[in-house]
Amino acid sequence: MADNVTIIRTPNGSEWLPATSVPVVHCASCGNAVDTPEEEATYPDGNCPDCGNSWTGAENKGVKIAVTAPKQISGAVF
Ligand SMILES: [Zn+2]
Repeated sequence: MADNVTIIRTPNGSEWLPATSVPVVHCASCGNAVDTPEEEATYPDGNCPDCGNSWTGAENKGVKIAVTAPKQISGAVF
């Protein structure tokens, strides 16, 4: 049983992972998001693959959160 993942178990027994968060860096020069393994491999020692400027350490760092909804409530009127 994993403690680091939140899984909601719905009454009908299906499991719902409501959100996953991924750390993401945005280039300070062009705003390109470093969100692929290829781009992450260039950070922090290489150059932005989009604009070619070297990473400065002043990039905007944030978290990308992907939210999913269980099929049961999709399309419901709130
Ligand atoms: Zn860039």
